[in-house]
Amino acid sequence: MWQVLGQDKAIRFLESSLKRGGLAHAYLLVGPPHVGKMTLACDIAKTLNCTGDNPPCGQCPACVRVTSGKYADVASVGRVKDEKSGRLKRDIGIDQMRDVQKAAHLPPYEGKFKVFIIDGAELLSTDAANCFLKTLEEPPPHIVFLLLAGKESDVLPTVVSRCQRVEVRPLPPERIEAALVDRWAVGPAQARLLAHLSQGCLGWALQAKDKPELLQQRVDMAERFRQLAGSGYEPRFAFAAELATQHEQSPEQVSHVLGLWGLWWRDLLMVRGGCPRWSVNIEQVDKLSKSEYASLSTSQITGSIRRLEATVQHLRRNANPRLALEALMLELPRVTSA
Ligand SMILES: [Zn+2]
Repeated sequence: MWQVLGQDKAIRFLESSLKRGGLAHAYLLVGPPHVGKMTLACDIAKTLNCTGDNPPCGQCPACVRVTSGKYADVASVGRVKDEKSGRLKRDIGIDQMRDVQKAAHLPPYEGKFKVFIIDGAELLSTDAANCFLKTLEEPPPHIVFLLLAGKESDVLPTVVSRCQRVEVRPLPPERIEAALVDRWAVGPAQARLLAHLSQGCLGWALQAKDKPELLQQRVDMAERFRQLAGSGYEPRFAFAAELATQHEQSPEQVSHVLGLWGLWWRDLLMVRGGCPRWSVNIEQVDKLSKSEYASLSTSQITGSIRRLEATVQHLRRNANPRLALEALMLELPRVTSA
């Protein structure tokens, strides 16, 4: 049984290519963080090596060992920690891909296929990607590469063009809510909140279920955005400085915060448009209904969403973080209290 939830289209596509004998050497699994790309990749690795009647059976020795990460022919490659700083490196380096290249040329040790899962195809350094391309151009038999990526546009086009693309889509909130209640015995109220906040990414909901601090961070951040909307430049520039410092350690975290800020504005738009049930932060709806937001026009709200998205793009393209963030703070509209 496929463990990944709700990815019926992707599963149908993969099953039919297996039946037709049209297996590709490389698949690019594209979807937002925590949407289920790794779960789907493990399902594919099991399907390729399953010895049961109905792959992936989940019960044969191969399936069990892929699940526990102990199957010799399935390897996952992602960012590793820097030995000096103890922090995760910014990219997947050439040494790691050279190891993949060497291992790929050996026959499978115990299964039918050797499977390499590249967890973050957009994180391959240029050298690593070029090294990997050589393997992709002349793939050894019995090898399947599964590349996971948030956005196809962030992956080197020469890598993308050698892969079959598989979209891993966010799920509707009702589907996540039902799964949390049925499979994980979460209470109905918490399941509804987690399902909305997850934005279709079950993996996030499952993490937040066990880590109340994740939920609290969301609530605290929404409160910070609410305060910033009404504040002058001083607190805004302080926030820009804070984010710029954070950017040195973890650019992904800053993108995440800006993404949440964009959602805060989107929720405001939903509430203003009379569609609060489409809000992500459903527990914030009452606060967003207040009359103080009446001073904002719809185009100011949509403009803020676009401005936040543009800042994420600028930072990704190596803009100066402090300048990009300060420019953002200057341009976001200010709510004037009634
Ligand atoms: Zn099996």
